[in-house]
Amino acid sequence: MSSKRTLEQLVRPNILRLKPYSSARDEYSGHEASVFLDANENPYNTPHNRYPDPMQRELKAALARIKHVPATSIFLGNGSDEAIDLVYRAFCEPRVDNVVAIDPTYGMYQVCAEVNDVEYRKVLLDSHFQFSARAMLGAADEHTKLMFLCSPNNPTGNLLARTEVEALLQAFDGLVVLDEAYIDFAPEAGFLPQLAEHPNLIILQTFSKAWGCAALRLGMAFASQEIVDILNKIKYPYNVNLLTQRQALEMTYRLYEKDRWVDTLKAERTWLGRALQGVKCVQLVYPTDANFFLVKVTDAPALYSYLVECGIIVRSRHTVALCGNCLRITVGTHRENEQLISALKAYAQAG
Ligand SMILES: *Cc1c(COP(=O)(O)O)cnc(C)c1O
Repeated sequence: MSSKRTLEQLVRPNILRLKPYSSARDEYSGHEASVFLDANENPYNTPHNRYPDPMQRELKAALARIKHVPATSIFLGNGSDEAIDLVYRAFCEPRVDNVVAIDPTYGMYQVCAEVNDVEYRKVLLDSHFQFSARAMLGAADEHTKLMFLCSPNNPTGNLLARTEVEALLQAFDGLVVLDEAYIDFAPEAGFLPQLAEHPNLIILQTFSKAWGCAALRLGMAFASQEIVDILNKIKYPYNVNLLTQRQALEMTYRLYEKDRWVDTLKAERTWLGRALQGVKCVQLVYPTDANFFLVKVTDAPALYSYLVECGIIVRSRHTVALCGNCLRITVGTHRENEQLISALKAYAQAG
């Protein structure tokens, strides 16, 4: 594909034409003011009586410093899940356009495709859980607007080969969504430093994993300002609430804490990986670059039920492509990991 489609050709025509809702807090911003009679708020019960900043400026400024990208390249949403849904709504015409994704991967890409009535095309990973740009392009046609990659991938745990991601970014005529939810746990940097080189790249990251803030519901999308502007145009005006904005900002001041958790979890990952390999019902512990293991066991449904009875919940991936008899196991605290290993050893002894 020699001449690439422009962003205007990729975005849905109705979204291109859309004039966004302008909220009170959009029209007024900056300048000193002390009397706010513009948004029909209750003047009592400060500070929760006021609508939050719809553009999350203070939080984005802090994230821009940490991530070394311009604040204008950051979109914030109610979890990564909001960003995933919005890229469908912005770029995919229901029943006309389609997307291509690696398989297996994170389930929300397909759920959002179905909600938006967009055809979802899967391209199976190889036996090392790697993809080929050529196979992805082979599944695409002129109606393919988006491709979904996830690196490190969920549920397989591995980073995708950098050269293939680059090849796809070069060759594909639409947008590549690269989900880096687990990048903090990986041994190499993600694609954020290359963001400016790739106008068709959307990187997703989240506060839900390394940052330890799953309850806040805060997802980040990094992309060109043009793409971010489109997502901002169609989001709910106050999609990230005040408590989330404030707590996430607080977390950015304690970046070292996130880094310390990551170091601890990586050490625990090494311990747990070795311990799992020593358990009789475990057939294969796949290599991981994330904070979880994909593990092939002798009988995944039976082992899953047994662990539930022990009060230990893991994720069965038994019915997922390439993951027959596999469990996905999150790295926990040392105590939790020990409890899991004791339970697995007891199972092996009983069976
Ligand atoms: C956990 C996870 C997320 C996080 O989603 P949020 O909505 O931000 O909590 C995103 N992508 C992948 C692949 C995940 O596994």
